[in-house]
Amino acid sequence: MHADHVMGLPGLLASMSLLGRKTAIEIFGPEELEHFVKSIWHKTGTHIGFPVQFNVIDSTKPSLLLEMKSYKIEAFPTKHRIATCGFKIEELLGSWHLKPETKELFNLSYHEINMLKKGESIHRKGGVVVDPNTFCIAPLKSRSYVFAADTAFTPKVIDGALNASLLYHEATFMESEKSIAIKTMHSTASDAGRVAREANVEKLMIGHFSNRYKGLDGLLDEARAVFENTCLASEGETVSIDYLD
Ligand SMILES: [Zn+2]
Repeated sequence: MHADHVMGLPGLLASMSLLGRKTAIEIFGPEELEHFVKSIWHKTGTHIGFPVQFNVIDSTKPSLLLEMKSYKIEAFPTKHRIATCGFKIEELLGSWHLKPETKELFNLSYHEINMLKKGESIHRKGGVVVDPNTFCIAPLKSRSYVFAADTAFTPKVIDGALNASLLYHEATFMESEKSIAIKTMHSTASDAGRVAREANVEKLMIGHFSNRYKGLDGLLDEARAVFENTCLASEGETVSIDYLD
């Protein structure tokens, strides 16, 4: 519920309404969020022209928020002065595809086709083995994006970000302001690098910088000293998450 994380929400939803949105939206957040957003709308006479459903997240343990056909979203606790969560958006793997000749080559049954689609090998009597690695095309590796802002260094984020394609981690301070980072329960750029390294992520993006830093190169250098593949979050910039090898 800290200001820099919720103040924009009533206005963002109001803008969507003004732009003609009619589709319902689901909001996940702390218990106080619904009252906060609705009281701003009420005080400002704002009408929202689509259904808004608020869902409370239990920030004490990891939880599944949403599971769709091709992706899921999970929340996990971070470490801050108030209840705060990080989020993981993860692609769900598609099925294996049979190579064109496979079905006829083995005269596959319906059951066998389903086994191969799940990536399972078929072992027939007489020693015939149909290995999906040879006779199918594997699904693309799933990509994932993890967001963790307003958090001190914590193994909980390492667990939440394990093997992510891209981790956004706050780096409010540099090591030179370590004592303020500890007091305010924020991270240094070096902390963010350590989380990325220990979680074995592909790429790290740092953000949520204190406005005391006029240039951001120092923060970037500090994170890169721990985890090389780091970039700075920059408003309006798009970073694409490519399929990994
Ligand atoms: Zn914040």
